[in-house]
Amino acid sequence: MEYDRNRDYFIDPDLGLIKVKRAARARIHINFRTNGDIVLVAGLRSPEGIMRRHIELNRGYILANIKVRYGDHHYHNGDKIGRHHTLTVRSGARAITKIDERVATVTIPPNMGSAEMNQYIHSAVAKTLRREASRYLPKRLLFFADKFGYRYERVRLTFAKSRWGSCSASGTISLNIALMTLPDKLCDYVLLHELAHTKQMNHSSDFWRQLESTLPDARKLNDELRDYSPYI
Ligand SMILES: [Zn+2]
Repeated sequence: MEYDRNRDYFIDPDLGLIKVKRAARARIHINFRTNGDIVLVAGLRSPEGIMRRHIELNRGYILANIKVRYGDHHYHNGDKIGRHHTLTVRSGARAITKIDERVATVTIPPNMGSAEMNQYIHSAVAKTLRREASRYLPKRLLFFADKFGYRYERVRLTFAKSRWGSCSASGTISLNIALMTLPDKLCDYVLLHELAHTKQMNHSSDFWRQLESTLPDARKLNDELRDYSPYI
């Protein structure tokens, strides 16, 4: 956890930004603002050490509160994104997202509140997944189409919260960038599922027969997929 003396805030890889609000005769405590900001209320002259200790003592409580606000979709420094990337969160002068081969680095400026920071990191995660998806999914789809004799017109990457993929009557297959967060076999299942729709635009028994001819345990994989959500 870093403390910026000039701007009077803490930044922690797990807790995010904690602004300090100074008030005369204030009892030191943590305050969760409705805008998502986490504020440490402290006395006019409370020293860094006291404030730091208060945050450490309440770390579990703050984390639990963040989880209630953001659900399980709160990202931390060191989290894995998709198949190849690791998230690095650091503080700096300006908000920047930089995506390398293996690392997505997000720089958080001092004036960014916790809610805004969470949103900013989410968009960095989406960018990273989109990059991975564009390099992998169209190729993988084409591989299966060639292997099993399917034809489609176009492939499109989407970022919908509700579905993994879809296939239109005109032959456009849409694939969610969140597929990069699934285990291999489930990602393949979705691709084969959408390809099967190029022959059967429904979920009839003919559709399942078609799909099972390319993937015998398709129904089992369909059940397993229910445990995952494309919400990133
Ligand atoms: Zn379907």
